[in-house]
Amino acid sequence: MTVPIKEPVLVLGGGLAAVSFVGTLRSQGWNGPICVVAEENEAPYDRPPLSKEFQHEGDEDKIRLDLRQVKDVEWIRNARAVSLDLRGRQVTLADGRQLSWGTLVFATGASPRTLPTLANGPAPVLTLRTLHDARQIRARLVPGAALTVIGGGVIGLELAATARAKGTNVTLIEATPRVLNRCAPSTLAELVELTHRTQGVDLRLGCTISSLDGDQLDLSDGSKLRTDLIVVGIGVLANDTLAREAGIATDDGIFVDGHGRTTCPDVLAIGDVTRQRNPVSGRFERIETWSNAHKQSATAARALIDPSTPPYTEVPWYWTDQYHLKIQVAGLAGGDQEVVRGDPTSGKASIMQLRDGRIVGACCINNAREFMALKRLIAAGARLDLERLRDPTVDAVKLVTQA
Ligand SMILES: Cc1cc2nc3c(=O)[nH]c(=O)nc-3n(C[C@H](O)[C@H](O)[C@H](O)COP(=O)(O)OP(=O)(O)OC[C@H]3O[C@@H](n4cnc5c(N)ncnc54)[C@H](O)[C@@H]3O)c2cc1C
Repeated sequence: MTVPIKEPVLVLGGGLAAVSFVGTLRSQGWNGPICVVAEENEAPYDRPPLSKEFQHEGDEDKIRLDLRQVKDVEWIRNARAVSLDLRGRQVTLADGRQLSWGTLVFATGASPRTLPTLANGPAPVLTLRTLHDARQIRARLVPGAALTVIGGGVIGLELAATARAKGTNVTLIEATPRVLNRCAPSTLAELVELTHRTQGVDLRLGCTISSLDGDQLDLSDGSKLRTDLIVVGIGVLANDTLAREAGIATDDGIFVDGHGRTTCPDVLAIGDVTRQRNPVSGRFERIETWSNAHKQSATAARALIDPSTPPYTEVPWYWTDQYHLKIQVAGLAGGDQEVVRGDPTSGKASIMQLRDGRIVGACCINNAREFMALKRLIAAGARLDLERLRDPTVDAVKLVTQA
């Protein structure tokens, strides 16, 4: 069943979710009016390379998003939406312009948390979210420079790995006793910590910054550190203020259903700004991954044209590249039982989480083929023979057919 979309479609934010949403509307044959309001004054680009390849190559053309499907779209760049009138169906931009909408889409993503106690001194204090940030960091990652990364999450660790490969000295400070606290099991975290230490990163776990004076950091372990650059990577907050102020249900993220619908009619939200039901945990969560921004947005666009579109239920997953480790993680970071296939220190292995005998999470290290199979098993909530699951000589693809 197709329904007429209320025109015009106004999208706030010009990142991956916006491009995927608009591209899907067009590829599905909808040719009504679309306007995208984008705060950044950039042609849309992919963020994952910003902490990886881009730091080496600096090639901006290579990271631009493919806009071939994004036809006949009015794109307003360097423009920030600052207020929203739900009843009058109008959005006001920072420069005073007012835009009308029939369907409004929040694709406003998230912004890095900052440490207000750290002010720029001789050593700049940066975050890494935008191409602008990445350019500033890249210019400073030179051999022999001293980089301090605050936060042992995915982005901080990726940047540490890239910086080491460029000959920069790296200290990584993490407040909790382990890295990847929120998004990976401790078995994987231990491997990642060992790899970073082997590559020469000075990893300070359970440590925080007491103060920054000029280019000198005082740490909670009593030590002092000279630094040329500080990059803070301590997570992000959803850019949901406009929605919240307008009365749409939010909680660090705009609540959406499997079609991207918010609690307000004709208002959708997609990508990092959303809080949606995680099909594995059953809880409403923020899923800050490339795959989610890409596919959840495409589903929301399809459902707008055809409400019988199945809701978005993909198992959340992400990848991270650090040194020789190509890591893929799906589902939950913890269960009541862990099964390891292979030896993680050998450079190729899979670490699986089970709950009540069902597989709920998987991390694969240099093992993309197995990852696809394990992701399918998680989606199926499969119960597996533990001995076979543990045995790396049993083909994971066969486990899928047998499950
Ligand atoms: C450095 C880095 C590395 C990453 N690596 C990986 C990875 O390896 N694997 C993985 O799965 N994921 C990775 N991610 C996550 C992935 O890139 C994000 O999940 C994805 O980009 C989210 O897309 P989005 O469109 O929802 O949000 P965004 O890309 O954040 O886009 C939102 C846009 O909206 C704009 N905006 C905000 N408010 C307004 C407003 N009021 N008016 C107008 N515009 C506004 C913002 O400026 C921004 O340009 C990485 C992210 C970063 C930052």
